[in-house]
Amino acid sequence: MSNASNTIIYLDNNATTRIAPEVLEAMMPFLGDSYGNPSSIHRFGGMIRRHINRAREQVAALIGAEPEEIVFTSSGTESNNMALKGFVQSHNHIHKKSAQIITAAVEHPSVRNTARLLKDEGAAAELVELPVDEGGMIALSDIDAKRIDPDTIVSIMWANNETGVIFPIDKIAEKVKSHGGIFHTDAVQAVGKIPINVKKSPVDMLAISGHKLHAPKGIGAAYFRAGTSFSPLLHGGHQENGLRGGTENVPYIVGLGKACELAAARIEEENTRVKAMRDRLERNLLEKCKGAKLNGLAAERLPNTTNISFENIEGEAILLYLDEHGIAASSGSACTTGSLEPSHVMIAMGIPYSYAHSSTRFSLSVYNAEEDIDKVIAVMPGIVEKLRQLSPFA
Ligand SMILES: *Cc1c(COP(=O)(O)O)cnc(C)c1O
Repeated sequence: MSNASNTIIYLDNNATTRIAPEVLEAMMPFLGDSYGNPSSIHRFGGMIRRHINRAREQVAALIGAEPEEIVFTSSGTESNNMALKGFVQSHNHIHKKSAQIITAAVEHPSVRNTARLLKDEGAAAELVELPVDEGGMIALSDIDAKRIDPDTIVSIMWANNETGVIFPIDKIAEKVKSHGGIFHTDAVQAVGKIPINVKKSPVDMLAISGHKLHAPKGIGAAYFRAGTSFSPLLHGGHQENGLRGGTENVPYIVGLGKACELAAARIEEENTRVKAMRDRLERNLLEKCKGAKLNGLAAERLPNTTNISFENIEGEAILLYLDEHGIAASSGSACTTGSLEPSHVMIAMGIPYSYAHSSTRFSLSVYNAEEDIDKVIAVMPGIVEKLRQLSPFA
């Protein structure tokens, strides 16, 4: 049997990443002999607890937090739900007040749909979705124009998963804090790719996902600045300081810790070697493919992501042809696969219909080599040419 992962050119790292071999190795004992319950009094459990504590330190270190400020969750999705529902519901129940949510139109569904649900249920009295310009950026003046008070939670992603556009989190968080509001950021795509330090950035809550930084799927973490009040999503035992009930997913927590330690060591490579490959890919595709156009601000972007549209052709078809060459890329958001609608991100950016349909995202990682990029540059102009001839629009 051929091993597909040996031959595949994987350029879909914003959808998920491979588990780093070092991470897998760190996890293995906890899927085997080290199976104790960290809450047990005996030494067999206490030993496990120490490994969880170590993982908490590793996650905290990557973002400049204190270990006590990290809660392990099942995913980035859970962390985002925890921040929004945790704030809004505690506001309802404890302070007997309705909350206001301010977010951006290009948020991941785990923020967007949670915010909309809270509004529909009446838990949040108001929901503002800030528009973005054609570069995928919000206007700081739009935030200034809104009423922000201690009843307000502002949730703006650190970096967008489809375009890689990085938001000015420090400036936004400072504005929110100066009015006494709470600031949450979905940092799932940013953590491990760009330096983050919550000692310097006044964010109150932040979401992390394991499988976007070479840990497994199904593990995440949430940062809550010490003193931030919120109600837990999961009620049960006293795990995670009473902030999330449920016996800890020990192997995955250990894996996330190791992945964060690795990410800290590789962030420089991400911003030099990986970025240089991304830039070369982007430059060549924009030059060599007819009707190619970059989506998202060129300047403020994650080092690993490029999102390009090809006028009048169908993104799904591009992906299928790339797949035949063993190249894995994505049409913006994995969640929109199978639907003919352009993604909500492309719609929010006002990308014209003739371009929005072919939005193609290439997202790299430290596991890519120059040959991967050579291959894409070699095949892409031909794919675009062929599809344009077939296009009903052209
Ligand atoms: C992947 C992703 C999430 C969700 O993380 P999961 O661990 O898959 O639930 C949230 N936000 C962004 C920006 C993402 O890219």
